[in-house]
Amino acid sequence: MASRVYDCLSKIGEKIIENKDFLTDLDREIGDADHGVNMARGFEGVMTKLTPDTEDIGAALKTTGMTLLSTVGGASGPLYGTAFMDSGKAMMGKTALDKDDMKAIFEAAIAGIQKRGKAERGEKTMLDALMPAYESYCAGIDAGKSLTEAMDDACRAANDGIEFTKTIRATKGRASYLGDRSIGHQDPGATSITMMLEVVSEFLKS
Ligand SMILES: [Mg+2]
Repeated sequence: MASRVYDCLSKIGEKIIENKDFLTDLDREIGDADHGVNMARGFEGVMTKLTPDTEDIGAALKTTGMTLLSTVGGASGPLYGTAFMDSGKAMMGKTALDKDDMKAIFEAAIAGIQKRGKAERGEKTMLDALMPAYESYCAGIDAGKSLTEAMDDACRAANDGIEFTKTIRATKGRASYLGDRSIGHQDPGATSITMMLEVVSEFLKS
């Protein structure tokens, strides 16, 4: 039987592959029309590299990150690769996920993306969804909510973050070449990271 972490990563892959054209279309508006294609290729690779019976969440995340790093091009490969690899380091040896683990995954992913991309919030990137998601998650946990309730809050905040990216000008990556013309378009990276959070949130309820 496949492990929980394998099933969850498979569902993330399915979601990204299902939304390949949508993500690519978003990137066509403000970038180079490859986000969905690249991410789908990356997760197709991930599914060939992951072992279904791997119970070690850290090892599975690390394999995912290394595969994304080597198969996804552009800026997204290194950023998602680092996010998954660093989350993997935080989870190495663990076979179950609790509230603190989820917090550690958020923190490792954010720190990895910030370091690798030299990115800050407000630049119209995946961080504009991921950082508010993390903050809402922590606020929920601090208020005594369960892991799944706090993840619901995180997903709402990530979706608000996507909406926020429509209102701002891109100052990072290829979209920044468009200047003010990037306003009105949602960030593809903020969109794909939100899809992943939604899959994890739903999965944790199962
Ligand atoms: Mg692109």
